[in-house]
Amino acid sequence: MIEHMSHEIQIIPIPAFHDNYIWLIHDGQNAAVVDPGDALPVLNTLNTLNLHLEAILITHHHQDHIGGVDTLLAHFPHIKIYAPALEHYNFQHIAVRDCDQISVANWLNTVSVISLPGHTLGHVAFYLEQDKAHYLFCGDTLFGAGCGRLFEGMPVQMFDSLKKLASLPGDTLVFCAHEYTLHNINFALSLEPNNQALIERKQQTTRLIEQLKPSLPSTIRLERATNPFLRCHSDEIKTALQLKNAEDLEIFTKIRLLRNSY
Ligand code: ZN
Ligand code: FE
Repeated sequence: MIEHMSHEIQIIPIPAFHDNYIWLIHDGQNAAVVDPGDALPVLNTLNTLNLHLEAILITHHHQDHIGGVDTLLAHFPHIKIYAPALEHYNFQHIAVRDCDQISVANWLNTVSVISLPGHTLGHVAFYLEQDKAHYLFCGDTLFGAGCGRLFEGMPVQMFDSLKKLASLPGDTLVFCAHEYTLHNINFALSLEPNNQALIERKQQTTRLIEQLKPSLPSTIRLERATNPFLRCHSDEIKTALQLKNAEDLEIFTKIRLLRNSY
């Protein structure tokens, strides 16, 4: 087996706006950011940690994920920007599509692109395996105990996109772009009040939020156990909705609709 060149990497959340996280990946010298909706907090963090920005990864075209790109590009004219091929962007970028393997930086292993239509039609995630760990940057597709709204896609597209993510290794660390976890957990408990993993997650998440700490990253294993959008097969959910014999997709469609007004 070939050993990949591997560096110790660190991933830190940069809070932005009301509840966004811009995830910064670095090796102590160089950095990449995911979905920089705002440039100033990114520039401040790079400054404080004395890091050089090499790359930007974009999951989808919403302003709270791309608003800082132009300013960052002005500060670092040589950075590489990766953005979904199926969406339109006004800045220079490398267009990425499903199953692409991209060389973001020489201190990172190859990053895999996973296409995830639903929240937007071109939405992608970035998946990285390094130092025996797995990292998923999933934008507004998968949230802690929830999923993104269907702005452009059909329920079946989001349902299939989430199934792809659910099939990743259980220990995959999940870096979502918003802090919605506690509200999502409360909604999830309305469907599965007896789910022990969910009850425990609420206690842990409440503690984190009280300490002003992020509830993320999550793991795929935890999402499978607690996220109702990955649990459309659950008898407790089907019974709660009085849709005992419904297909999983029908359950998904129903709970996405209920969550819109929760
Ligand atoms: Zn979005
Ligand atoms: Fe967003």
